[in-house]
Amino acid sequence: MSAGPRSQPCIPLRVGILGGGQLARMTAEAARALGLETVVLDPDTDAPAGQVTRLVIGPLEPHDALARFARQIDLATLENEFVHRGALEYLAEHGVMVRPSIHTFGVILDKLHQRAHMDAAGLSPTPYAPIESPGEVPAFAARHGWPVVLKTRSQGYDGRGVAIAHDAGEVDAAWQRLGSGVRPLMAEGFVSFTSELAVMVVRDAYGNVATYPVVETVQEEYVCRVVRAPAAVQPAIADQARHVAAQAITAIEGVGVFGVELFLGTDGRVTVNEIAPRPHNSGHYTIDACVASQFENHLRAVAGLPLGSTSMTAPAAVMVNLIGTRSGTMDHLHTGARQVGDAWVHLYGKRQLRPGRKMGHVTAVGATLDEAESRAQRAAGELGL
Ligand code: ADP
Repeated sequence: MSAGPRSQPCIPLRVGILGGGQLARMTAEAARALGLETVVLDPDTDAPAGQVTRLVIGPLEPHDALARFARQIDLATLENEFVHRGALEYLAEHGVMVRPSIHTFGVILDKLHQRAHMDAAGLSPTPYAPIESPGEVPAFAARHGWPVVLKTRSQGYDGRGVAIAHDAGEVDAAWQRLGSGVRPLMAEGFVSFTSELAVMVVRDAYGNVATYPVVETVQEEYVCRVVRAPAAVQPAIADQARHVAAQAITAIEGVGVFGVELFLGTDGRVTVNEIAPRPHNSGHYTIDACVASQFENHLRAVAGLPLGSTSMTAPAAVMVNLIGTRSGTMDHLHTGARQVGDAWVHLYGKRQLRPGRKMGHVTAVGATLDEAESRAQRAAGELGL
């Protein structure tokens, strides 16, 4: 038999995860309950997932470590986008099933391609264009108006790849903030939105799609702080959001779990901002407040198992990120999941506390969003990070 990729969906027992951060850690924890073995590849000996599953140390690119990783797994998935495409190609060439596929990954990796796919599917009417010099920005604004949103086409996260120019006088500063054109950039029209929503979508290899409830994400300085589930929006808006998100993942033939970030426009229209090809911060509440978590369903989808229910098990749930406010160690806190008051605390096992670093999250449920949020905030406050 040739060593090509296995074409038939099967039930692999060994799942490789590229990247060993908190998303891989929570995926590995869900895998144990499903009876799936996991192996993680990460350059950091201290990677959070390495505390709960086997860790191969090495870069997420073609390398000796990747060859060792490939020999230990049947199927590969990823926990972040900062993966060298060549690594996925190497795995596929060595008989490892890669999910989501290299095609899907390629579309998502470049925000310009992603935007083009969403545009073609009628899911994002926001104007966009590649930008090669600052001089092209006023020309874009002449066609579509100010402000203009400048973005790096890849490697952006937590708003690090975004700069907004409100007029021609702000273009140079925005350009410099994004690295002065060292990385390819694109421009987007500014979306006037009332809130930012997100929907986790799970799609299996047979095309079955399930969506989790629509959530509202509260961002500060582009970093997600709080997630409210379900979002307090009209049922028609929630239906629209779930529909748009499901269509977005079908359009890119995604297999696995995807985080779809959406804008609720001031015109009442829901449009796609961006897609993450993996479990997502806006879906962490599903561990404690849904029948099957995003991590479980990701594994189910990529491993060819039947999808689990995406329903909530409580009327409302709120997740609060535990983000460092100072430098120090985490020695005073035990790692892992535990309960504080009536909230679930998930710590990611990162030893060094730093300002702005995501150290864990807290989820609480309640009869209303207000009740769940005050429980979650109280617990987060008690931990004092
Ligand atoms: P990153 O991948 O770096 O986190 P995003 O594309 O998610 O970047 O953008 C970060 C934030 O910037 C969004 O959550 C939103 O608040 C704002 N933003 C992004 N694109 C637009 C846009 N076209 N119009 C208005 N705000 C935007």
